[in-house]
Amino acid sequence: GGAGGGMAAGRAARSVSVAVVGAGAAGLASVRALRREGLAVTAFEARPEAGGTWVLEAGARGAQSSLYDSLRTNLPREVMGFQELPFTGAPGTSPYCGHREVRQYLEAYAEKFDLKRHIRFGERVVSARRAPRGGGAGGRAGWLLEIDGGGEQKAYEETFDALMVCNGHYTEARFPAEAAACESFAHAAGCSQTHSHEYREPGRFRGKRVVLVGGGPSAMDLSAEIASVAEEVFLSARVADPAAFSAQLAKINAACGVGIQARPWVRAAEPGLVHFEGGGSARVDAIVWCTGYHYSFPWLDLGGGDLGGDCLEALYRHVFLPEHAPELSFVGVPFKVAPFPQFELQAAWVAACLAGRRSLPPETEMRRRAADELRSQRERFALPRHTHQLGGLQWDYNDLLAEESGFPPLAGWRRQVYDASKENRAESPGDYRDKLPEGLEQSLAQALQDFGGGAAQ
Ligand code: FAD
Repeated sequence: GGAGGGMAAGRAARSVSVAVVGAGAAGLASVRALRREGLAVTAFEARPEAGGTWVLEAGARGAQSSLYDSLRTNLPREVMGFQELPFTGAPGTSPYCGHREVRQYLEAYAEKFDLKRHIRFGERVVSARRAPRGGGAGGRAGWLLEIDGGGEQKAYEETFDALMVCNGHYTEARFPAEAAACESFAHAAGCSQTHSHEYREPGRFRGKRVVLVGGGPSAMDLSAEIASVAEEVFLSARVADPAAFSAQLAKINAACGVGIQARPWVRAAEPGLVHFEGGGSARVDAIVWCTGYHYSFPWLDLGGGDLGGDCLEALYRHVFLPEHAPELSFVGVPFKVAPFPQFELQAAWVAACLAGRRSLPPETEMRRRAADELRSQRERFALPRHTHQLGGLQWDYNDLLAEESGFPPLAGWRRQVYDASKENRAESPGDYRDKLPEGLEQSLAQALQDFGGGAAQ
């Protein structure tokens, strides 16, 4: 144990000023890591609060969170937490906690390390580009940021040596190609077409016929919740194994006392009527697209085309763009991972590089490795939008980050809890949050033991 042990707030070998964009979990972890290295940091957060996704109230000027009222985590809180602050709950409560508890946890993290004094709330970064040479430390090119401070205040500019991008990737809704062929659907009276990003609670679907499109966790969770009040619910998914998918749905239906019906992918729609691949159709009142999100950095000007969309192809280890490393980094890009502890490791690596305590390979070598990484991900998954999907690869990746940064690697129970939880979810998709198999209980007990040992102090 001993996360952070021997890593007391250091004095940086060189003086570097760093701008962090966003103060969600990734931004907070980044501010913490930079302070631990003794670097000067200013974080910009468009919303009035820290916590990003886990703050449901509509921020005055930031993008709205994609969470909804009833959301409970899909990972046990113990495995979600940072190494430097154990995430535990009241004894006897489910480890799959509500979103408010996660927000409180992030508040406690900010409090513990006194992070808020480095954050400018209500300030949105509207552009960032490389500053002319000489702007940064030691004559290196830095970053020129334009910041919209809100209110009467005009946008202002400020220069930093380095930029850490922590703006999240669950707010820009993605729609599949078929959505274009569904445009006229809502022209019928009483019909609506929305994205899961906008979903808050099921009330508006009471007594309606609804089709949800997508096969991920949002589609599953939302269809069960909507089915509890709707007249009829169809789940339109493109799945590799339709029989297994139907079996999953049958379990959800049994556990939740609902009757969600599986359908093929939506092909097109006309007012009030949806057509599925293979020929079927259904009269419905609402389409809810649960089809995920895009990466988006419209304010980041690297002089070439726009970055973002399905993936960031050129990233080295999902963090650095070789051409701008280490003065530009991205924390929080991978998905199908336990996010917070991975943010903590990525941020530790970036901060160690910026402090000059660790170094990166030469640019050409990073480019070569980034291309190799991309190739091997494309062999696992053909689709560009799966470029940053890690799943089972996250553990080796995390170990690599720990090695690179000198930050402690994750304890073995993390993987056990994660895997046991995944199995539990597959086994009981409708009620896994309140049903803990013995294997999961045991690995959670190990977590508590580890925490009790003062591992994260
Ligand atoms: P965010 O939380 O999105 O934070 C980004 C911040 O950057 C925001 O506050 C935003 O206002 C700010 N920002 C953006 N652009 C700018 C700008 N230009 N200038 C200034 N500020 C800016 N994770 C789990 O661990 N467990 C779960 O159970 C879980 N469930 C989830 C369920 C849903 C429906 C979703 C969408 C996500 C879930 N996640 C879960 C993943 C979750 O997104 C991560 O846990 C984490 O909150 C991501 O943090 P982040 O800091 O990368 O991004």
